Amino acid sequence: MDFLRPASWEEALAAKAEHPTAVPIAGGTDVMVEINFDHRRPEYLLDLNRIGELSTWTVGEETVELGASVPYTHIMEHLRAELPGLALASHTVASPQIRNRGGVGGNLGTASPAGDAHPALLAAGAEVEVESVRGSRRIPIDAFYTGVKRNALAADELIRSVHIKKADGPQQYSKVGTRNAMVIAVCAFGLALHPATRTVRTGIGSAAPTPVRARTAEEFLNAALAEGGFWESGRIITPSIAREFATLAAGACNPIDDVRGTARYRRHAVAVMARRQLGWTWEQYRGTGRALEGAA
Ligand SMILES: Cc1cc2nc3c(=O)[nH]c(=O)nc-3n(C[C@H](O)[C@H](O)[C@H](O)COP(=O)(O)OP(=O)(O)OC[C@H]3O[C@@H](n4cnc5c(N)ncnc54)[C@H](O)[C@@H]3O)c2cc1C
Repeated sequence: MDFLRPASWEEALAAKAEHPTAVPIAGGTDVMVEINFDHRRPEYLLDLNRIGELSTWTVGEETVELGASVPYTHIMEHLRAELPGLALASHTVASPQIRNRGGVGGNLGTASPAGDAHPALLAAGAEVEVESVRGSRRIPIDAFYTGVKRNALAADELIRSVHIKKADGPQQYSKVGTRNAMVIAVCAFGLALHPATRTVRTGIGSAAPTPVRARTAEEFLNAALAEGGFWESGRIITPSIAREFATLAAGACNPIDDVRGTARYRRHAVAVMARRQLGWTWEQYRGTGRALEGAA
């Protein structure tokens, strides 16, 4: 196995163009497991660790551009205000050691339905910036996941960064597992309220072949909140609306029975998380969220 060590982004793109089967390695927390277990024996490893810009981020007016290799620890420490959903999701990834190495670029590269970044990225609204020697393009997060552990990257492309909308309202993330740390999600749910556009967005993990949004649930809740004047009045969401939102969220799942949980349990757990998160985020919106909006 050859180890390619580009010193710059341009060198990395050139190496990937020359060796499209080369496997990029960032934190290595997925790649090294596969190699150690002999699940994968690539001819080339393409080490991205000398490319400093992949580990930086820029907070813009409306979005955060997050370098592909920024470790979870930095998201938790520095981007909690701008990306609360992703920061919460980062907290749930593995252990401090893994969070110091692993990042969102690697989570996207693996594209496991159980990856913790995905529901938060779907709920916040994100675009993945990918590049090759042919040029760069931005892939909307909804179009990025193409199958079980498959993504929309071409063989010569690398992920440069992710552009994530800065939170304009409360966000939540939770996952179900057998313990609080070092656990792959049995299922996961992310919710973001977007008061600026009077919309909500969701993300579901580990309950379908790919991470997905609960679109029908979003559409139902958007309409119910608009019709009832909830955004303006800030009044408590009725239990029947919350229940229907939860039921529709469960309906967006297409889970399997596996060692981590049954399909039935996953649907049930997603409904519970959806209802709870709606309660938490709406309480926050009724408090600080609306107060901030009024002051703006
Ligand atoms: C003990 C353990 C526990 C874990 N627990 C969790 C967990 O709770 N939640 C969770 O979501 N994940 C978990 N993981 C998986 C892993 O830590 C995450 O998926 C992490 O985000 C991977 O990031 P990385 O930088 O280490 O990726 P790497 O291992 O370096 O790469 C992962 C994949 O992405 C590709 N890749 C990396 N960077 C790029 C790039 N810039 N462009 C194109 N492709 C790229 C690689 O080729 C590879 O296919 C765990 C792993 C271990 C070992």
